[in-house]
Amino acid sequence: MQFAELGLRAALLDAVAELGYKEPTPIQEQAIPALLAGKDIIGSAQTGTGKTAAFSLPIISQLGPHGPGPRCLVLEPTRELALQTYENFLKFARFTQLRTGLVYGGVGYGKQKEDLERGVDILVATPGRLLDHLDQRTVRLDLARFLVLDEADRMLDMGFLPDVRRIIMKCPKDRQTMLFSATIPPAIETLTTWAMNAPVKIEVGGRRQPAETVKHVLYPVAELQKETLLLALLEEVHWESAIIFCRTKRGADVVESFLSRAKHKAAVIHSDRSQVERQQALDGFKKGKFEVLVATDVAARGLDIADVSHVINYDVPEHPEDYVHRIGRTGRAQASGDAFTLFTASDAGFVASIERFITQKIPRVKLDTFKYQYTVLFDEVRLGPVSERKTRGVRMGKGYFFGPAKRK
Ligand code: AMP
Repeated sequence: MQFAELGLRAALLDAVAELGYKEPTPIQEQAIPALLAGKDIIGSAQTGTGKTAAFSLPIISQLGPHGPGPRCLVLEPTRELALQTYENFLKFARFTQLRTGLVYGGVGYGKQKEDLERGVDILVATPGRLLDHLDQRTVRLDLARFLVLDEADRMLDMGFLPDVRRIIMKCPKDRQTMLFSATIPPAIETLTTWAMNAPVKIEVGGRRQPAETVKHVLYPVAELQKETLLLALLEEVHWESAIIFCRTKRGADVVESFLSRAKHKAAVIHSDRSQVERQQALDGFKKGKFEVLVATDVAARGLDIADVSHVINYDVPEHPEDYVHRIGRTGRAQASGDAFTLFTASDAGFVASIERFITQKIPRVKLDTFKYQYTVLFDEVRLGPVSERKTRGVRMGKGYFFGPAKRK
């Protein structure tokens, strides 16, 4: 299918052509005609599938010329996502007269107020700061006939749903609502029933499956050797840019400092860093000033960082969905990528639940040149496939199958 067949206005087709998009992605093929037909939609699509364009293009197409507003409101869970979506709207609306505004916390009110006063057609916002503006009456939402709730499951995790509800109540009843969420837990289901009008469900790919273009493997390792194994991997493997995920902010700081000591150009992004620091880290990484970005899940979720050759999970994520989100940072938009996960004996339970969630066994591999210390995980290999057995208090999953065991 071609973009020209979807019913978008010419200004959008020009923008898409200028961005070099050749054909619509599957979610765009499904969502764009439904949205142009005025339907509400619930979209579940993996990150990197082109979902931002899937909602932005049909909204811009329907907005017509600049007018009193905002007529479209997009809610995002984090400042980084808000900025990223805002930048997308700017690109897609390039050949129109529409104005896009951005509102998020952690920065001053001045510029935001000025922009709002001057008038925006599209407003991208995080919930907390938007509520402040609503309270101060620097913005109204009674003309917002398009409402996008992006990454709704993350807004739920971050405790934003009550704020989101308050915001929705300020929007007109007669509106088109679109909600995107990787998973639909009961609280989101309730929200969709309350806030949406006969929504069409659009699901792209098994949302539990990592993108097919990503090769992902586990590196079993003793806890004490995680740091040296990470450094060895960065030494041995051919890579260009990597995001390294840690479970905690403190852990991310520790990893960033030992990488920097090892002369890697690394930056860190987590929620204790100021907005300016986070933006500098992100921009520096995108521009190639930093080759490694160390991040926590909350900070990195959904960030569109192009051309990441490797994702490395320094810590196994506790939530299986985060595994899929993390490794979605590579292999985006059909480029192939690699994802490594360092796996220690205490992570066995988390790994088992990830494998259940994605209904796949993740291959266990070893770095040939690395001098491994013993870990109980290697016993599983030496003993060959096992079915649910208890090993030194660690419950192991079924059938560990990484190659013939070579114990050093
Ligand atoms: P998203 O899932 O919205 O974060 O988009 C992921 C990446 O895919 C972004 O870098 C987009 O610019 C890019 N993208 C979106 N739609 C297309 C398309 N139809 N063809 C090629 N790239 C696309």
